[in-house]
Amino acid sequence: MRLPRVFLNGAVASGEVITLPGAAAHHLGNVLRLTPGMPVLGVAPDGTTWALAWMGSGRARVLGRSPEPWPEPDTRMTLAVAVPRGERMDWLVEKAVELGAASLVPLHTERSPLGGQVHPGRVARWERLAQAAAEQSGRRCIPPVLPPSDLVSSLRDFTGPCLVAHPGGEARPLRELLTAVAGDQPAPTWSPPRAVLVAVGPEGGFTPREVDAAVSAGARLLSLGSRILRVETAAIAALTLVLAGCGALGQPAGG
Ligand code: SAM
Repeated sequence: MRLPRVFLNGAVASGEVITLPGAAAHHLGNVLRLTPGMPVLGVAPDGTTWALAWMGSGRARVLGRSPEPWPEPDTRMTLAVAVPRGERMDWLVEKAVELGAASLVPLHTERSPLGGQVHPGRVARWERLAQAAAEQSGRRCIPPVLPPSDLVSSLRDFTGPCLVAHPGGEARPLRELLTAVAGDQPAPTWSPPRAVLVAVGPEGGFTPREVDAAVSAGARLLSLGSRILRVETAAIAALTLVLAGCGALGQPAGG
């Protein structure tokens, strides 16, 4: 059975009795109703994993290191996405974290409803959803939801290749772009990028001005095929394709 997993606030040492973060303590004690002595896996901020024994009242004893296979993708992918309406962004955050996104940037774009203004409460909610998804899917870090930004600023702030998902005819398939990014090296010398940003536009698409500015800033236009996808579908498809294309989806769970 898979152990309940909690992200710890700081470094820990064997034998120590620690107080767990409030939300984690509530979940273990009141939702999962653990009884004293039951095992929990703790993930320290440096990604190391620790065997804990629940003691009740929000506390746990650290039993020792519990080395596990490293689940984080070798390619760190940032998903910059025009915020879709309502709960679709909640769904997107959860699925992106499960699949292995390294971080998310909510984008405000020229065609976003209401100029794409994002209430800080929504960002806080996405951060909570990211944490829950990271715990559930066995991540070693909580992918941050970065401050809302516009397309060109998010590209300029990023170090690494940037791809803008765009249904226009000038967009190229991922395989071509990854080859271009790698400097046209033929296999087997091809090596995947360490970090990639993919931007996905709003329901009305990026404007020609945004697309031109992105290309001028060095981004490449990515095609996700011949059908028009909704924002959240495009985001999850792009994330999966890029991680798979970079060989970064990882080994089978438990393998
Ligand atoms: N009519 C809009 C256009 O032409 O851009 C469609 C926008 S689509 C609903 C929302 C976003 O998903 C797009 O801005 C793009 O980033 C991404 N997208 C959807 N389908 C795509 C495809 N086939 N290839 C690349 N990106 C796509």
